[in-house]
Amino acid sequence: MTLMHYIGGAETAGTSGRQQDVFNPATGAAITAVPLASTAEVGNAVAAAAAALPGWASTPPARRAQVMFNFRDLIKSNLDELATQISSQHGKTFDDAKGEIARGIEVVEFACGIPHALKGEYSPQVAGNVDSFSMRQPVGVVAGITPFNFPAMVPMWMFPMALACGNTFVLKPSERDPGAPMMLARLLSEAGLPEGCFNVVHGDKEAVDAILDHPDVAAISFVGSTAIGKYIYSRGCTNGKRVQALCGAKNHMIIMPDADMDQAVDAAMGAAYGSAGERCMAISAVLAVGDDTADRFVKQLAPKVRALKIGQYDEPGVEMGPVITAESKARIEGYIDQGEKDGADVVVDGRGLKLQGYEDGFFVGGTLIDRVTPDMSVYRDEIFGPVLSVLRPQSYDEARQLVMDHEYGNGTAIFTRDGDAARDFATSINIGMVGVNVPIPVPVAYHSFGGWKASMFGDHSIHGMEGVRFYTRLKTVTARWPSGIKEGAVFNFSAGSEVQ
Ligand code: NAD
Repeated sequence: MTLMHYIGGAETAGTSGRQQDVFNPATGAAITAVPLASTAEVGNAVAAAAAALPGWASTPPARRAQVMFNFRDLIKSNLDELATQISSQHGKTFDDAKGEIARGIEVVEFACGIPHALKGEYSPQVAGNVDSFSMRQPVGVVAGITPFNFPAMVPMWMFPMALACGNTFVLKPSERDPGAPMMLARLLSEAGLPEGCFNVVHGDKEAVDAILDHPDVAAISFVGSTAIGKYIYSRGCTNGKRVQALCGAKNHMIIMPDADMDQAVDAAMGAAYGSAGERCMAISAVLAVGDDTADRFVKQLAPKVRALKIGQYDEPGVEMGPVITAESKARIEGYIDQGEKDGADVVVDGRGLKLQGYEDGFFVGGTLIDRVTPDMSVYRDEIFGPVLSVLRPQSYDEARQLVMDHEYGNGTAIFTRDGDAARDFATSINIGMVGVNVPIPVPVAYHSFGGWKASMFGDHSIHGMEGVRFYTRLKTVTARWPSGIKEGAVFNFSAGSEVQ
């Protein structure tokens, strides 16, 4: 059965005549299909959002927050079904899918406090009988364009904040795993969100371009790869929209000689191979400082990588699932081939993995590559698979410089007991999110998520107070009450003249 769009509070069949299969990556079988929206269908979703905007924008923030409270409860009571939607189309383990939902719920909970976050500033008596105050108002119809790797959490980084701030929303989720976003749309309606405030249109480049060019879309949040993010940022900005684009990554973990190696190895296992490395905050390069540190790390990690329990999301004890598509599997294995050709040491090789009963699944085994050098493509590029490269810088300074010089700047971590090194790293590194003995430093919802360098385009990070700033416009009112008005025109513009 083909999925539907969700427009104006109702499931709507696609009319473009174009659709695409959605797979269970563990079996390689098509389990459903997704319609690919035409420009006209995107127009319908934007029109529904625009029609709902005046009513929703003028709804008191506390009432909007009430919908978020209801939504939170509904997600919790539908947790297993939502996690099944995610795992069966994405391939990640059931527990990992539930973890993703939990991180999304955090943002909904932050959005429940929106009346406080929207409070403006007030300055009485900025001049004689003149007061000044500011308010944050919704930007209008906003769109979200999201990647396959967190089909519930990444949309939930966006729409709870956008809706709570009084905007209406059009989501264009990844066409690879669109089941979870559809469920979220139904739950929002059930939570009491008026029809048209939240719409889902599935699609590919045609739908995205229709969003980028639509005059009634005021702002766009994008999360995905750097190449597409750059395109969305430049075309959206050219069309006068506010755009935030969170993009690709290559996250380094420095292991200093004094680090607790057991902790560092466990941290690297989860951060490199969890969700088959398909996380923008996955650790994909370890910088082990000194050969002795590198030898100890590789020796301890390799047996654990070989012992990874790989399988379909619902098998007991499974730690890692497949990657998203057959093309993705081929691309990842191509990088391992190239690393080997370039002279790196493939210590654990995940190529050619076939699982009994899942012979057509898109599985890549955990892969560990040692003696990688900075010129190799396994190091330079984002692979987005279960492949960890180990480099062997000889000092902290050399390790830090590698992180500084890399194109991407999403996340990074240092494992050490040396407070000086940790502090220097956290304060001087040119990366958006830093972990000290924390491998995946994803900020909690009341802080904000965002990278530097080629990992983000735009001025505002996502969720937390940065989310409030992105999804609102600041207005400042200067008011003089009639009793303060003096007779006669004022022509000069000296400091404060307008409010004298
Ligand atoms: P992607 O860039 O291929 O797709 C993202 C979105 O863009 C999807 O909705 C897709 O339909 C759309 N899209 C794809 N090709 C397009 C085109 N030519 N024109 C217009 N739109 C297009 O990314 P993906 O493979 O779904 O996700 C993985 C990427 O997302 C990785 O690079 C990962 O690092 C990144 N990511 C980043 C963050 C972050 O916060 N920085 C979080 C999650 C994922």
